[in-house]
Amino acid sequence: MADHKQKQQEHHQCKAASSSSSSSSSTIIVVFWDDGMLHHNTGEGVFDTGINPGFLDVLEKHPENSDRVRNMLSILKRGPISPFISWHPPSTPALISQLYSFHTPEYIDSLLEADKNGGKTLCSGTFLNPGSWNAALLAAGTTLSAIRYILHGHAKMCYALVRPPGHHAQPTQADGYCFLNNAGLAVQYALDSGCNKVAVIDVDVHYGNGTAEGFYQSDKVLTISLHMNHGSWGNLILKGAGFGFNLNVPLPNGTGDKGYKYAMTEVVAPAVRKFDPEMMVFVIGQDSSAFDPNGRQCLTMEGYRGIGQIVRNLADDHCNGRVLIVQEGGYQVTYSAYCLHATLEGVLNLPFPLLSDPIAYYPEDDAIAIKAIESIKHYHQTQAISFLGGT
Ligand SMILES: [Zn+2]
Repeated sequence: MADHKQKQQEHHQCKAASSSSSSSSSTIIVVFWDDGMLHHNTGEGVFDTGINPGFLDVLEKHPENSDRVRNMLSILKRGPISPFISWHPPSTPALISQLYSFHTPEYIDSLLEADKNGGKTLCSGTFLNPGSWNAALLAAGTTLSAIRYILHGHAKMCYALVRPPGHHAQPTQADGYCFLNNAGLAVQYALDSGCNKVAVIDVDVHYGNGTAEGFYQSDKVLTISLHMNHGSWGNLILKGAGFGFNLNVPLPNGTGDKGYKYAMTEVVAPAVRKFDPEMMVFVIGQDSSAFDPNGRQCLTMEGYRGIGQIVRNLADDHCNGRVLIVQEGGYQVTYSAYCLHATLEGVLNLPFPLLSDPIAYYPEDDAIAIKAIESIKHYHQTQAISFLGGT
């Protein structure tokens, strides 16, 4: 009964927010984190393979390691952005029953079984080790707490700083370092709480295939993914009732700050404005940076700051300033933290940068990117996105 009442309250708040067009004055981002997520140990080897070939003196940590997140934590605690950050107490792990809103019981059973048996390699580079399952449940629970916090009206901008990441996890399988789809669970929670339209903007360098798949059949969720056009998750098929509500923006290698800004203003923003969401979920990955070992997209802090600002303005105009930010990839241990800092500066819509870029020097040539973005824009306007006014 209490749960029913709670959902009703959230429903009301979703409606109230959607009917308001007032600009948001939020100046704080509430961060959700739990130290238990550090206990997902992905091991070491040749990059993300977990393999020791025997002829290397120095093996490296798996790119999705706890160091990257420890630096993200510390930069938010001790960087110049710290006065704009509020820390939420640790959340409880997700309940198994909560996972069924996005994942199939068979898949969840297979993860429980793998954990019970001491761990398992689920697919390439994706290791469920002792401690991993609890971290995954904490990541899902932390993200659910953050969306609930927004829906209850306690804050407009929340950031779920979570690992293991989630956006490759599909309803039926693990993929790309991901077990549970944290953002997908939050989106479904928002829908179940009465939100009619949720927009997901994913700027991790990889295609957010798991999140997209979870909502392929839905016209209530607009999933947008800007990503490197690298083919690993190449199935960009639009299908079902959700046709036109899965917007893929595969960008050429080296797209850079100007190219991303162009994609955001020419493709992403018009789609979001047409969709007019009640809730925004901003899925961030710093593996789109110029120095990431897993990406070639060459964003710098300035680019991330600009993307954050555009997302904030869209959230202000359509969602009464409400945006859930969910952490995904980002593997360069130093620069990922700096780019996170810049992204959140953008979301805060601060009038000037708080932190200068210590290493940006990569030359940019946006001509190829702009040509590709124009062709994506043309495709979506003429074929894929009926709500954008195409035929
Ligand atoms: Zn990624």
